[in-house]
Amino acid sequence: MSDKSFFKPGFTSAFDHAAARRTIIVAGGAGFIGSNLCKRLIDAGERVICIDNLSTGRSENIAGLIAHPNFAFYLHDIVKPFGISGPVDQIYNLACQASPPKYQSDPIHTFKTSIIGAVNLLRVAELKSARILQSSTSEVYGDPEISPQAETYRGQVNTVGPRACYDEGKRATETLFYEMHRQRQIDVRIARIFNTYGPRMDPEDGRVVSNFIVQALQDQALTVYGDGSQTRSFCYVEDMLDGLMALMEADSDLPTISDPVNLGNPGEFNMLELAQMVREMTDARADIVFHPLPKDDPHQRRPDIGRAKRLLGWEPHVPLRLGLMATIPYFREQIEQGQTLRRGGAVA
Ligand code: NAD
Ligand code: UDP
Repeated sequence: MSDKSFFKPGFTSAFDHAAARRTIIVAGGAGFIGSNLCKRLIDAGERVICIDNLSTGRSENIAGLIAHPNFAFYLHDIVKPFGISGPVDQIYNLACQASPPKYQSDPIHTFKTSIIGAVNLLRVAELKSARILQSSTSEVYGDPEISPQAETYRGQVNTVGPRACYDEGKRATETLFYEMHRQRQIDVRIARIFNTYGPRMDPEDGRVVSNFIVQALQDQALTVYGDGSQTRSFCYVEDMLDGLMALMEADSDLPTISDPVNLGNPGEFNMLELAQMVREMTDARADIVFHPLPKDDPHQRRPDIGRAKRLLGWEPHVPLRLGLMATIPYFREQIEQGQTLRRGGAVA
């Protein structure tokens, strides 16, 4: 489990800035997507400053990077302002609790993280003339009335439901990024990320892929919410990193590059299909049990990725079955190491 004492907070980087590499901040870098991104950037020879409050992030996600000379970790809540010494070239904002049971147990802080956290990161971006990418979400479409969802669709979101702290925080932050670009010429990128899965997910995260795999591996019944007919489109994390980095690296002269871009895998599955696939792939003997559908749970979700294809030449390559084949051994290892699903991760 996360050992916060493992790290020392601080804001003076010890990097050798005379060297030619770029310095990249990854806010939320100890989380699932963030830690995969940190690893990818370090492997590419970049310097990485990871900022995380370890609310849903885990020290074990970045344990392999902590001693690397190009990696620095700051234990910090981005809701509080901060400064960084030395140059910064890029900022990825991945800081936000993303699992419904997690953000719903901490709604006000989740909302503040999206908005005040973004204000603080945008301030650093402006000061350092750094490019900044916001991890927005398919949740901006709420419970969509059309499928697939293109960026032009304005969504159907409840402002006061249990998911609102997340959805509305992300929507407002897109507006903030848009205005900071228009009024203050900050070089912004907005990725609307659809459901992403893969290694480094927290076994207790509570989202569907981790729940089903961990349940199946522990011979616990797989918890399908509602009748399981609701759909999601699942993107393997390595494909998502390719998309995020392509968006970050895209030329600033490209028209509309600062507008939102959907990133996700258009393959659409319902939750019963996913449960059955996981059972089959893990040889699970456990049953499927049905729990009530959480309030405002979207009925369908499928990205139109035409814009990402045209603008970035990006599309995902890993089909769900292949991605699960790479993810199941990771969770098996986590369970063997004692990272078991004690609370079932399920929405109460
Ligand atoms: P995650 O919960 O694993 O990672 C989020 C990270 O942010 C964690 O390490 C957490 O400790 C950190 N964090 C949260 N609040 C913070 C704060 N106030 N200050 C500093 N750090 C803070 O989630 P993830 O799946 O890796 O998601 C990463 C980003 O991508 C999030 O912004 C999320 O909204 C977005 N996103 C993810 C998905 C997905 O399916 N994984 C889909 C859409 C959008
Ligand atoms: N879900 C489920 N069983 C679980 C966890 C989630 O059936 O144990 C369902 C959930 O109701 C939703 C879908 O799976 O319809 C995706 O849920 P997740 O929390 O992964 O992401 P989100 O709802 O934010 O897309």
